[in-house]
Amino acid sequence: MKVLVLGAGVVGVTSAWYLAKAGHEVTVIDRESAAGLETSFANGGQISVSQAEPWANPGAPAKIIKWLGREDAPLLFRMRADLRQWSWGLRFLFECLPWRTRANTLNVLRLAIYSRARLQALRGDTGIEYDHLSNGILQIHTDQKEFESSRARVQMLLSHGLAVSVRSPAEVIRIEPALRDSQVRIVGATYAADDESGDAHLFSERLAELATKEGVSFGYDVEVEGLLKEGDAISGVAVRAGGRRHVLSADAYLVSMASYSPFVLAPVGVNVPVYPVKGYSITAPVKQAAAAPSVCITDENGKIAMTRLGDRLRMAGTAELASYDASISEARCAGIANRVRQIFPDAVDYTNVKKWAGLRPATPSNVPLIGRTHYSNLYLNTGHGTLGWTLACGSGAAIADLVSQRSPEVEFPFL
Ligand SMILES: Cc1cc2nc3c(=O)[nH]c(=O)nc-3n(C[C@H](O)[C@H](O)[C@H](O)COP(=O)(O)OP(=O)(O)OC[C@H]3O[C@@H](n4cnc5c(N)ncnc54)[C@H](O)[C@@H]3O)c2cc1C
Repeated sequence: MKVLVLGAGVVGVTSAWYLAKAGHEVTVIDRESAAGLETSFANGGQISVSQAEPWANPGAPAKIIKWLGREDAPLLFRMRADLRQWSWGLRFLFECLPWRTRANTLNVLRLAIYSRARLQALRGDTGIEYDHLSNGILQIHTDQKEFESSRARVQMLLSHGLAVSVRSPAEVIRIEPALRDSQVRIVGATYAADDESGDAHLFSERLAELATKEGVSFGYDVEVEGLLKEGDAISGVAVRAGGRRHVLSADAYLVSMASYSPFVLAPVGVNVPVYPVKGYSITAPVKQAAAAPSVCITDENGKIAMTRLGDRLRMAGTAELASYDASISEARCAGIANRVRQIFPDAVDYTNVKKWAGLRPATPSNVPLIGRTHYSNLYLNTGHGTLGWTLACGSGAAIADLVSQRSPEVEFPFL
């Protein structure tokens, strides 16, 4: 079957890979000049199965109110006159109900466990290199009350077979010796030994190269303008390339355009609650290897990921509901740098960093939308929010199964 994938982020590229492996004739198009240049470009780099709990949880509303208007807030709502933003916000509040959080966490967790296994298998099969490390993720706490409440999360993860444990401050230093220089007091941590990290952009770029060898065609600098329908099927995609309009057709279409997916789906009557949640990262060359972490760190209180990518340190975090504005806020980047400087004072030169902002394609529940729409040949793999890199391989493998009329190997609420 001819499959046209719209979007060459980490989700579109992994989908293309598994679709090609399933025997389909695959073409991927993207408005950028290469794979992985938008949200997948400089994210936190974590394959964080242990962090499956969504932002929408019972504790979130109180925190959001406390942080309102604070420029350095980890989670900031910038209210706009945008109906989609308000309706997303209301659905987010609904997803904060305890039973919704439990169900969402479980769904994401199952997909994340499957996804990590698929990533490991892909690495074994292809030898793909992307500055990856399998040293686990250490989720450090600086607030005693929050640390105590993390024990329930650990119990839940243990019951799903994850290698997660609660660690004392002394054990934390043994796991990541560079934390000995921290100027913030670490009261404890949870350590997910099986979690991983790596550069999602490098991965997307290299997997696109490998997919090309498998026969996948990539068309870059192609802007998707709309889907064309005929009865209960999609008959083509209107695109603009080289200043001209064309129509591309295939047997099946897969939309993986992240936060921009609703713009092509809504006009054909497919309404998806995907809205951008902006985040930032800063990246710098490591100055002193022993002063920088080689275990991936999540600072639970600052909501910042610190990830070693080869000889670089990536520091990423913050969430801002601010529509499609992807401009860089110096204040928010400085907030990340100041916090990490307190934890790893000599790791990098914090005055000389590469700044980046990306739009997480978030659903209110953080559960991605994977599966077929009410059109017989229109599929979605989008809305991966905070965990698109973690979930990419599992989502790609599952959508390839669904397009091939096979049951995916993972239990998940597919569309
Ligand atoms: C600060 C930050 C930190 C993060 N940290 C992590 C982390 O540590 N671990 C993790 O798992 N996830 C993390 N994420 C989330 C992760 O980066 C995303 O979920 C993931 O990159 C989404 O991948 P995607 O392929 O759906 O989107 P994208 O990479 O944005 O791909 C979508 C593609 O669609 C193309 N496109 C859109 N519109 C059009 C159009 N009209 N025509 C043609 N092409 C179009 C774009 O050019 C783009 O290439 C983080 C995100 C941010 C912002």
